[in-house]
Amino acid sequence: MPARNILVINCGSSSIKFALVNEAHSQFTLSGLAERLGSHDAVLHWQRGGEKDSLMIPNGDHRAALAQLLPLVQSAAGGKLHGIGHRVVHGGEHFTAASRLDEATLRAIRATAPLAPLHNPANLLGIEAAIKLFPNLTQVAVFDTAFHQTLPEHAFRYALPDHLYREHGVRRYGFHGTSHRFVSHRAAELAGLSVGDSSWLVAHLGNGCSTCAIVNGQSRDTSMGLTPLEGLVMGTRSGDVDPNLHSHLARTLGWSLERIEQLLNKESGLLGLSGLSNDMRSLEQAREQGHAGATLAIEVFCYRLAKSLAAMSCALPQLDGLIFTGGIGENSPLIRSKTVAHLTLFNLALDKEANARTVRGVGGSIQAYGHPRVLVVPTNEERQIALDTLALLNA
Ligand code: ADP
Repeated sequence: MPARNILVINCGSSSIKFALVNEAHSQFTLSGLAERLGSHDAVLHWQRGGEKDSLMIPNGDHRAALAQLLPLVQSAAGGKLHGIGHRVVHGGEHFTAASRLDEATLRAIRATAPLAPLHNPANLLGIEAAIKLFPNLTQVAVFDTAFHQTLPEHAFRYALPDHLYREHGVRRYGFHGTSHRFVSHRAAELAGLSVGDSSWLVAHLGNGCSTCAIVNGQSRDTSMGLTPLEGLVMGTRSGDVDPNLHSHLARTLGWSLERIEQLLNKESGLLGLSGLSNDMRSLEQAREQGHAGATLAIEVFCYRLAKSLAAMSCALPQLDGLIFTGGIGENSPLIRSKTVAHLTLFNLALDKEANARTVRGVGGSIQAYGHPRVLVVPTNEERQIALDTLALLNA
């Protein structure tokens, strides 16, 4: 059978990220981004081979962007597109794996929207547009939450009255599941272990950040919760704060819920702590020049990350390795070494040279000789979504 092509789509409220994945090639055949959709300066950017191009689509919506994309995809796929994989943020408790998009799946995704009011409706825009444009193609939804549906109840329940869980779904769901799953499989391959018989701690550090404990290929705990705000310090998200912060700010400053949500999601994290930037690269440069806010942001980020990894270790029977991934995890020797320095009780230590050279898409082990395994594994959520789509095509 010739190698198959899957289009992977990740739809936001005003953007679509896409990649055309060929199962036989590690590089994407075509990739790009449509942004500012719905506005007069809506634009489609794409990259094919070494060449980049873009096209203005004034007032274009999701459907208009996908329609422009269609001939590009058909040409890059040599006329043979086999399926479309859609990233969907929240699958609630309904989805424990990827699911073929039919009426029942669409209904269940719509029903989950209250849990992800910003993300799921945006994901649905892309799905509905793609189904209209490609009615005869197999389309699949791949959920950020699905991998974490194996969490035991003692890990996913909040200490809140039972009815909030039973009647309103208030529990920990976890996110970044596609990435945690992909890198734990790659790590097992790199280490020569079977994923079904190995235990990992994962730190996915991008703009959003989360940790995960993975045992025998299953997620057993993770740092994000009901929403992607819980847990680690992130680019602009606070991660964990005292749950009474909301009422404190409302009482003392008269802030509304919307104002507090804006603070915790958009103005906090690395940006809030540093007063400078949400971008780790910028913060590392500023720290080099003695910027106090950047220095503090990096210290808090690494300490909180180490603390979360130590907490996740409660879910592991043994540690086969710690995995760093995401833009920061894959590219920042500084963050890796500062984090590992807080974990000496686990006997973790890095090889300085290996840590320094394992960046920019290079993966591999970076632990010091004789210490537990620490791996850098470039994530590839698009490929994992394509693999899940292919698996359902085969089924
Ligand atoms: P997203 O979650 O949006 O996919 P990424 O996984 O691309 O984000 O991660 C973005 C983060 O990675 C940013 O904070 C960026 O500064 C950081 N990053 C990328 N390259 C480097 C680098 N060389 N050193 C430190 N941080 C980096």
